[in-house]
Formats: sequence, structure tokens, C-alpha cells
Amino acid sequence: MKTILLINPPVYDFAAYDLWAKPLALLYLSSILKKQNIKIEFFDYMDRLSSLIENTESNEYGCGHYIKEQVDKPKIINDIKRNYFRFGIPKDTAENYFKTLKPPNVIIIGSVMTYWYIGVKEAVKSLKKIFPDTPIILGGVYATLCFEHAKTIKNIDDIVSGGFHGLMAVLSKYNINIDIVNDFSSFPTPDYSVYPKLEYMAGRTSMGCPFNCSYCAQKILSNRTYSIKSVDVIIDEIYELTGKRNIKNIVFYDDALFYNANRHIKILFQQILDDNKIFNIHTPNGLHAKFIDEELADLMFHVKLINPRFSLETADEHEQKYSDHKITNQEFKSAIKMLRKSGYNKGEYTVYLLIGLPNQNINSIKDSIKFAHDLGAKISFSEYSPIPYTATWAYIDAFFKEEPLFQNKTYFLSRQKNYDELLELKQLAKNLNNKL
Ligand code: SF4
Repeated sequence: MKTILLINPPVYDFAAYDLWAKPLALLYLSSILKKQNIKIEFFDYMDRLSSLIENTESNEYGCGHYIKEQVDKPKIINDIKRNYFRFGIPKDTAENYFKTLKPPNVIIIGSVMTYWYIGVKEAVKSLKKIFPDTPIILGGVYATLCFEHAKTIKNIDDIVSGGFHGLMAVLSKYNINIDIVNDFSSFPTPDYSVYPKLEYMAGRTSMGCPFNCSYCAQKILSNRTYSIKSVDVIIDEIYELTGKRNIKNIVFYDDALFYNANRHIKILFQQILDDNKIFNIHTPNGLHAKFIDEELADLMFHVKLINPRFSLETADEHEQKYSDHKITNQEFKSAIKMLRKSGYNKGEYTVYLLIGLPNQNINSIKDSIKFAHDLGAKISFSEYSPIPYTATWAYIDAFFKEEPLFQNKTYFLSRQKNYDELLELKQLAKNLNNKL
């Protein structure tokens, strides 16, 4: 039997927090490979609950801080006055664990943010030292969006960009012949058995998004497709995973969970209620408030969708075009009204606002903060970071395109000429949130 070692690398950044973050693509891949008689070893550097480390405390919903150590900033971003950290299971601990394994036939490393590639480099170096003869394949977001840059990392044998479809050909080079149907609707249940300790279960009911916001790379990452699983399949997945492990927190990573609500999410929520299942449901990716009607608002409240987070991005009607007109202020107001009627109180729902877009008007951010606060919403800023292949990328200064580390959202924000004013606005939003 062939063995594949799947790796979720450590993170190097100014800040990181486990807001229900799991390497979902690797978990789907683990299930797909196991079904085809491949033995899987799995190592997640970012597993806060690993038996290899002293676990950090979780809040009531399973979120918490990663273990971290302060490290020197890479010289090229040394001009920013913020501390820089390595998050995740320490390097020596990981290497000692790898030494307990038999050399796998292949190692596959996943990647997320483009500017987290230093963690990929570290993992590759450790793995090559211990398994010098095992080929290493890199996939994921960084591999897809920064393919040329990824080629500069030493000791990566193959890079797969754009999802699982390229993986079959690469694995066949190493005499591992598998079948991967590159259609999300046929993906199996993510393989949570790789985590001995688990406080939440994250999954998707759909892949892709019908919108096309100018700053978002989801179209490239989802191969321009939008695909859903049937409600019956999702219900089975949720009950199977939560039942076995007594998990109470369910997290949906969908980019457009409420799209086509009558035929999808309403049926799913109603089924959970009919079955008298009690969960806390979380949606860290922004929801589309425009799809809310009274029925959906009631279902959200009764099914215990905690602190629904909505993507408004801006209340400036001119700037909303950059978000593909996904919501108008009027639609937003009307959705909040229905939420309040269904039982959500002020401060029990959150609005994402974008901050740090190049040439963004400070007054429009201020107005957006006021608009959201007046509707009783907590404000959470999504700090803009430039992403290759997006429409906004064309307007980014050439300097930031040279190096993925310059695309770090904290770094990018700090290089805006109105940085001090942006910090003041962040503080203003914090103060207003405390008043709710
Ligand atoms: S709605 Fe969200 S996921 Fe969809 S394109 Fe816009 S930012 Fe991306």
C-alpha cells in the first residue's frame, strides 16, 4: 500500500488566530485518497489541540490562540513597526514527529495565503532533511496564485495549481494512480479522523461564488465553477461527524451560503430543526444579507446561527460596484430589520467592512462605520490585501507585486499614505462595538 503524508504548514505573520481554521482541502483530499486504498499520514502544524504540544485555551465555540514565538521579520519588511511571529507546532517538535514515521511515497503540502510561503519553506526544509528521497508536491492557494514564485522554493519537486485536477497526473509520475473527480458535489466527507481532539467541525455545502468582486480570487480558486452538495448529503456528513465526536460547533466555509436559499440553506436549517439537533452554527466567511427574508431570518435564529457575519464592505453606493453590487444599503437595512424581528439583538450580528483599498476614501469608511453601527451591527474590518489575478491587482503599485510578503494585509495597510487615519478608524469601530 502506498503512503502519502499530507502537511498543513506553519504560519509566519504579524497576527493569527484560530477562528475555526482547518485545512479543508487537505481533509477532502485525505478522504479521497483513503477511499482509493492510499494510506494517509497527516500533520497539521496549526493544530492547537495536538498531543505534541501544550494546548492553548479555547473559547466556548472552539476558537483560540495558536502557540507562537516571536521571530525576526524578513529584512524586506523590516520597516514595519510590528512584531512578527511563527505560529504553530514548533519546528523541532514537528521534526521529531516526522522521524517516527516510515518514509512516505509522496508528501503533499497545502498552502493558503500567498504571504505565508515562509511556513511552506520551513516545512519543505524539515521534510527534505528527514525524507531526502521522497518527492514533495505543493498545492493550494499560494501554489495557484504565485506559481512562478513557488518554483523558487528549493526542494519542491512538483507544483499543482488550480485545485485537485492537476494532482492525478503528478501522482502518476510516482506510480500512484488515482481518480479524482474535480467536482465538489461529489467530494466525500472531509476526513476529521486525522484530528484526535476536535472542538468544531468545518465544512462546505458549496464551492465557488456567483458574484465577482474586484478584489477576490475565488473565481480562479474555484475554476470559475459554482457547485453544491445536496442537502441530504450535507445532513449525513454533519450528523456523522458531529455524532461520532460529540461536536457542537459547526462551521460553514461557503462563499455564498445563502445563495438560492429556498432550495438549499432553508431546507438544511429546517431539517436540523425538525431532527431536534442542537448545534452552534458559525459562518466566518461573509454572508449575503440580500438573500435574507423573514423565513430565513427566523430559521437562522432558531437553528442557532451565532453572530452571523455579513459582507457589506462599504456603505458608499459608488464603491459598492467594486463588490459586484452584491448588496444595496436598502437591502441591508431591510435584512437587519428582519433579523431583529426574528430575535437577534443589537451587537449579536457583525458587518465586515473593507479597509485599506488603494485610494479608498476615508470619509466613505467613516460613513460605513456609522451606517453599520446605527443598525446595531458589530464592525469587523477585512483588511485589504492585493491578490494576483484579481481586477484590483491592475491598480496596485508595481512595488507590491514584486514579492508576496509585500501583499501581507498588515504590511500593505501600513504602507498606505493615510495609515494613521485608518488606525484611528479601526479604534473608532472598536469603541463603537463596545457600546453595543
Ligand atoms: S461575494 Fe465574497 S466570495 Fe463572492 S466574489 Fe465577492 S468577496 Fe469573493
